[in-house]
Amino acid sequence: MIPAPPSRMLPSSLRGEVAAVRAADAGIADGAPEAEQRVQAAEQRAHEAEQRTLAAEQRLCEVERRVKELEAAHADDGLQLERKAQPDSGSGIEFTTPGTGFTTAYLARAKSEVPVVPWTAEDSEPAFSGTIDEFRETMADEKTRARLNNKVKVCAACKKPCAISLASCNACGTSLDGVPTTYNDNVFMGFVHGISKGRFPYKMSLRYQDESYLCFDDPLSLSPLHTNCIPTHCYVPDLRFLFVNPDRGLALINKLFEVGAKVALEQFWSNEQFRNKIFNGETKPQSAADIMETACCGLNFPPSMYQLHLQFIHMPMLPYQYFMARKNGHWHHGRFFPLEYLRKALALGDKVKMEVNENTDIKDIIHKVSENGVVYDSVHREFLHKCWGLQERFSAWAESDFECQVVNEKVYNMADGRMEPGSDPKGIQAEDTKKLQNYGRPYTEEGKTTGTYYKYAKKATEVEEFC
Ligand SMILES: [Zn+2]
Repeated sequence: MIPAPPSRMLPSSLRGEVAAVRAADAGIADGAPEAEQRVQAAEQRAHEAEQRTLAAEQRLCEVERRVKELEAAHADDGLQLERKAQPDSGSGIEFTTPGTGFTTAYLARAKSEVPVVPWTAEDSEPAFSGTIDEFRETMADEKTRARLNNKVKVCAACKKPCAISLASCNACGTSLDGVPTTYNDNVFMGFVHGISKGRFPYKMSLRYQDESYLCFDDPLSLSPLHTNCIPTHCYVPDLRFLFVNPDRGLALINKLFEVGAKVALEQFWSNEQFRNKIFNGETKPQSAADIMETACCGLNFPPSMYQLHLQFIHMPMLPYQYFMARKNGHWHHGRFFPLEYLRKALALGDKVKMEVNENTDIKDIIHKVSENGVVYDSVHREFLHKCWGLQERFSAWAESDFECQVVNEKVYNMADGRMEPGSDPKGIQAEDTKKLQNYGRPYTEEGKTTGTYYKYAKKATEVEEFC
């Protein structure tokens, strides 16, 4: 647990603000809504400032620790030089990485693959052999045609399509100020309709399919078991629309989880080699519901694709991705909504029922939910602690599985403890992902990923609006 920050951390300007608003409030009759709101707003700002201070302190600690480690490493380097001069010298720097794979560095250049769990679904041909553009032309109805598009802001510097709510690109950090909203292809709806291709073939590394749901491996795997679960019988642009009908919304996300958990249990936990290596040889859970203890699931808002998709990330994460997560590179506060949060929120039923349209502010939903006792900040914080705890519990990664560690973007070879000045961490990272993911397995002889199309592909008119 992160301890509550001592009050001295609260910047004095904000402390003053809270006090001032409280004092003003004291002069007004109890429950005056305007004053109360101001107090709440000031407290909220104060709370955010506390969080920032805490984060800064943590970063400082991390930097200090890293400096100490580097100093130690250099000291060892000197020793190493002396030893090298003699035959039968020692074995170099000891990295002593914990099984989580996380230090201020991360393990890299995997020596071998994880135990592979290939996709198992029936191999099907595309229902629509043309492109997504050609499919669009077959649709007369403007509203359903719009489902094939995602609203994005394309970064001017690196061309990444970013969520429209972001102030700066989440790949390169360039400001998105003044970047117009444009559209790109909604690949997930392409999957639903069985469309052959867009800018690339719309094949899925498919784990599960029925008339209403799909579960497939995420192409950007954060863990060796990372899937996406989507409905195919209805169109739900994003999680906000679940609040149009909380009861149905809750049933829908529970069903998505059930599909993901079934895959986890029947395909991954049931694979002995995978269970032994990745799940630390733990006993297979009894039921799909038990998988909630070991998976970190949730939804993004805004999403990258505008069809509701549950991110089903079973721990442990890949060493690099865990490193990124610890550095706040995944599951961003205010954008990632843990399944635990949405379950509690939607379970409030009619109390959180709302009119939703594409301009609905997500903060209005968070606010309404918190008025009813479910606080986003707390659930999000608990979610992160759950993730860290599980990475520890499974301790899937050993130094002996890897050749290198990357410290501050520099590659160190663990065999001799020396830096490899010519090695590119990004290139190693791409190679590692290929070895450690289950997406697109089995690979072809040329090492390319494989996949298939949806057997129960929907016609444009067969996907209902969610309401
Ligand atoms: Zn960018």
